[in-house]
Amino acid sequence: VAKQLKNGAVIYSPEIDKSSQQNLSLLSDMRAALEHKQFRLYVQPKLSLHTGQIVAAEALVRWIHPERNFIFPDQFIPFAEQTGFIRQLTHWVMNAAAAASRDWQRAGLNIKLSVNISTRDLLDQELPSKFSGILQQHQVAASSFCLEITESAIMDDPVRAHQTLDRLHAMGMELSIDDFGTGYSSLAYLKRLPVDELKIDKSFVLKMEKNADDTKIVKSTIDLGHNMGLRVVAEGVENAEVISLLTELGCDHAQGYHIAKPMPASDLPAWLVEWNQHQTI
Ligand code: C2E
Ligand code: CA
Ligand code: CA
Ligand code: CA
Repeated sequence: VAKQLKNGAVIYSPEIDKSSQQNLSLLSDMRAALEHKQFRLYVQPKLSLHTGQIVAAEALVRWIHPERNFIFPDQFIPFAEQTGFIRQLTHWVMNAAAAASRDWQRAGLNIKLSVNISTRDLLDQELPSKFSGILQQHQVAASSFCLEITESAIMDDPVRAHQTLDRLHAMGMELSIDDFGTGYSSLAYLKRLPVDELKIDKSFVLKMEKNADDTKIVKSTIDLGHNMGLRVVAEGVENAEVISLLTELGCDHAQGYHIAKPMPASDLPAWLVEWNQHQTI
C-alpha cells in the first residue's frame, strides 16, 4: 500500500491498492506510528474579520514517517475511519490539543482550538467521558475547544450523533459544521443540533474573487448562518481580495494560506508575536 516516490516521499494510495491485506499493513503502520510518536499536532490560525486578531486555530494531524517523510491526513484518515483506528487517533489528537491549549494559556494566549471529529467518534458512546477525562488531566476548560464535524458524519446515524453532540455541548465544548455546503444534510435537521458555527467549505472560497456564483453561495451561507444565530467561518482563504470580500459580506472568521499555513502547535506563540508586529492583512 505504501509507494516510495523518487523524492523519497511515501504515498498510500487507496485507489490503487484496495486489498484487505494491504489495508492491514497500513493499519499496523498507523498503530506503530502511535506507539513511536510519529504523529504531530499542527495548527492553523483563524483570523477574526471583526477585530483583525487571531482568535482561534484548527488542529490538523500530520504523520512523520520513519524516513522523515510527511504524510498528509487525506492519505490515512480515510483508512483510519474504515478500520476504526480513528478512535485512537482522535484520542491522541484531543490529548495533544489539550496539552497545546494549556501551554498557550500559560503563555497568556486566548486561542480557541478546533478538533476534527469523524463518524466513528460520534458513534462512540464513551467519547464525551473520554474527552472530559483529557480536559481534567490537562486542566483546561471545555469552552476552550470547538469540535468540527462534517454533515455526512452526522447524517450517518443522526440519532446517535445527536445524542453524542448534545452531551459534548452540555460539557461546554462548541460545535461546528465542517465543509458546509458539500453534504446532504437537511437544514431542518441541522437547526435542531446544538451547533455554534458553520464552516464554509474551501471549494466555494478558493476562487470566489473570480467567480460570481461562488460569491453568491458564500454570501447566502453567511446570511443563513447569521439568521440561525451561528458564527460563520470561511476556510481556504488564499489572497487579500477574498479577505476584503468576506469582510464586506460580514463573515466572522477566516482561515487559509494567506493568513498562515498549518504549523507545529508549539510554533504558534512565536508566530503570533510576529503576526502582531507586522500584520500584513
Ligand atoms: P478539513 O477539516 O476540511 O481541513 C482543512 C484542510 O484545508 C487542511 O488540510 C488545511 O491544511 C487545508 N487548507 C487550509 N487553508 C488552505 C488554503 O488556503 N488553501 C488550500 N488549498 N487548503 C487549505 P489537511 O491538513 O491536509 O487536512 C485534510 C483533511 O484531513 C481535513 O480537512 C480533515 O478532514 C482531515 N483531518 C486532518 N486532521 C485531522 C484530525 O486530526 N482528525 C480527523 N478526524 N480528521 C483530520
Ligand atoms: Ca476541519
Ligand atoms: Ca473543512
Ligand atoms: Ca475537507
